[in-house]
Amino acid sequence: MRHRFPPDYYINGILNGDRLTLSRAITLVESRRSDDQLLAQQVLEGVLPNTGRSIRVGITGVPGVGKSTFIEAFGRYLTGQGHRLAVLAVDPTSQRSGGSLLGDKTRMETLSMDPNAYIRPSPAGDSLGGVAHRTRETILLCEAAGYDVVLVETVGVGQSETVVHGMVDFFLLLMLAGAGDELQGMKRGIMELADALCITKADGDNRAAADRARVEYQNALHLFPPTGTGWFPPVLTGSALTGEGVDTVWQTIRDQQQLTTANGYRNQRRQEQQLTWFRALLRQRLEGMFYEQPGMRERLAHIEEQVRTGTLLPGPAISQLLH
Ligand code: GDP
Repeated sequence: MRHRFPPDYYINGILNGDRLTLSRAITLVESRRSDDQLLAQQVLEGVLPNTGRSIRVGITGVPGVGKSTFIEAFGRYLTGQGHRLAVLAVDPTSQRSGGSLLGDKTRMETLSMDPNAYIRPSPAGDSLGGVAHRTRETILLCEAAGYDVVLVETVGVGQSETVVHGMVDFFLLLMLAGAGDELQGMKRGIMELADALCITKADGDNRAAADRARVEYQNALHLFPPTGTGWFPPVLTGSALTGEGVDTVWQTIRDQQQLTTANGYRNQRRQEQQLTWFRALLRQRLEGMFYEQPGMRERLAHIEEQVRTGTLLPGPAISQLLH
C-alpha cells in the first residue's frame, strides 16, 4: 500500500525541485482513487502560482521516425544550454498488441542520467483521454518543479496528436524522407497542426533524400491555409546521430515563441487550451455521474436491448434514461 503524505509535503518538495516528490505527486495525479484525486487537486492548487513558465513542446511522429533518439540529442543540447527539461510520454498503448510503444526502458539512456532532465513515461494500459487528462496536470507539476522546457512525446498513430497539440505551445512533427505520406500514416490534418516539420536521419546516404523531402514538404505546406498566427511552419532537417540541425529546431521554437508572445497568439492559445481542458473534464465528470447512478447498468442493458431490436427509438430511449 502506497503511503500518502499531507499536501504541503508534495507542494514544498516540488517547489524545491525534489525529483522523488515530483514523481510521487505525478503518481498521485495519475491515480483513479477519489481520495488521491482530492489530494492531487490540493497539491495542484498549491503549486499553481509557480506554473505556466515553461515552453511546452509536443513531439510526434510514427514509430521508427527517431523520436526517442531525437529527444535524447535535443535534450542533451538543451541541458547543455543551461535549461532544465522534462520529457513526458503520452503512450496510447497499442490496442492490438496490448504492448507499450514507448515503454522501452533503454530509451533515452544518457538523458535519463542527466540531473537537469526528468523523464516520465506514462503508464501503459490506459485510455488515451485518461492519459492526456493527466498529462496536462503533470506539465503543471513539472513547471512548478523548475523545468523550463517540457517535451510531450506522442506516437503518431492515432488521435493522440490532436490531444497533445491541445496542450503545447509548439507542435513538432518528425518525418522520414523517402516514405510516402500513406506509409507514414500521416493524415493531412496532422501536418496542419504542426508548427514545424523536421525530416529526421539527415545524415550519410540519407542526406540528399532528406533535403529533397524538405523542399517537397515545404511546397506542400505552402498550399495550406495560413494559420492566422503570423507564423509559417518551416520544414527543417536534422540528425540525432550527428547532432546537426538540433540547434536549428530550438532556434525555430524560440522564434515562434517570440513572435506569438509579441502578437498575443501564445496567450490566446493557452487560454483556449485551458477552456478545452475544463470542458473535457466537465464532460468526463457528467458522464461518470450518469453511469454511476444506482441500477443504471441494468436499466441501460434493458433499454439497449429494446433499441437493438427496434422496439424503441434512440430518442425516446434517452428521454426514458434521463428521467
Ligand atoms: P522512435 O520509434 O520514433 O522513438 O524511433 P527511435 O528513436 O527508436 O529510432 C528508430 C531507429 O532509427 C533506431 O534504430 C535509431 O538508431 C535510428 N535513428 C534515429 N535517429 C537517427 C539519426 O539521426 N540518424 C540515423 N542514421 N539513424 C537514426
